[in-house]
Amino acid sequence: MTELKKFAVIGSPIDHSLSPKIHSIFAKELGIEITYEAINVEPQHFDSSVTRLFEEGYAGLNVTLPLKELAFKLADELSDDSNLSGSVNTLWKEEGIIYGDSTDGKGLIRDLQEKKINLKNKEIVILGAGGSAKAIIPSLLKEDPQRISIGNRTISKAEELLESFSSFRDRMNLFQMTDNLNFKPEILINSTSAGIKNQSLELPEDILTKDMCIYDLSYSFEDTPFLKLAKSKGIENYHDGIGMLIHQAALSFKIWTGQVPNSSISKDELL
Ligand code: NDP
Repeated sequence: MTELKKFAVIGSPIDHSLSPKIHSIFAKELGIEITYEAINVEPQHFDSSVTRLFEEGYAGLNVTLPLKELAFKLADELSDDSNLSGSVNTLWKEEGIIYGDSTDGKGLIRDLQEKKINLKNKEIVILGAGGSAKAIIPSLLKEDPQRISIGNRTISKAEELLESFSSFRDRMNLFQMTDNLNFKPEILINSTSAGIKNQSLELPEDILTKDMCIYDLSYSFEDTPFLKLAKSKGIENYHDGIGMLIHQAALSFKIWTGQVPNSSISKDELL
């Protein structure tokens, strides 16, 4: 008989996480018996909780807001993507060593590839300079875009973010989110949390143009507020972040089990 493997996603708040559902679908399709829980962990209890969960026999942990940087600090061995992004969303332990990887960036790239969105030589704008922006930048840079510009409400945070990618300074740029642009973005990625907080985004007049591609990291059953805004400007090439969520989960699942799950899960199955 195969051993039942235990997994969990930890974060705070965690109640609405879709990860348990996604991983259960993966496991069922592959005929692997797993449990996957969502466990609330506050930052001050992060280290002790991870130690305890591994002692209790968990084979792998996903880490989400606001714990990804703490996971980066805790892991003994880090993947290249984690080292570059300063972020970890996947933890596992082997022979006493805690390993950390960040699958967010690769998950986004896989979803973009599936949607036939090519980043090579493209003028990319990322709105937001938080944890998710930092996590996706290394993977975006690997696709060889012309430039990545970060627009943020708090300009000092965008400066800090750019500082952490100083070796790529010639291919990166920053701007205050409300300033008019002197260039034309071709792909615009919204990584702000304004939508999920029901807050409006103050954007420059000229930032949204009909022929651009929009990718919103946020997702909801209906169009997100940002996608509604894009549609109102006549943009037809727009996508939410559900595909990225599923792909980053599939990459974690493969790290832990060695098996490649089927990533074609529909939104209806999840939301
Ligand atoms: P952070 O809290 O680290 O960063 C939030 C960013 O949003 C900051 O740059 C902040 O700007 C900006 N922001 C928030 N509210 C506003 C507002 N009203 N106007 C302008 N800017 C605002 O969050 P994360 O980066 O971790 O996550 C962001 C989003 O990405 C979330 O919705 C999350 O669900 C989603 N996400 C999706 C994933 C997926 O797999 N699809 C994976 C990871 C995240 P400032 O610096 O000025 O405060």
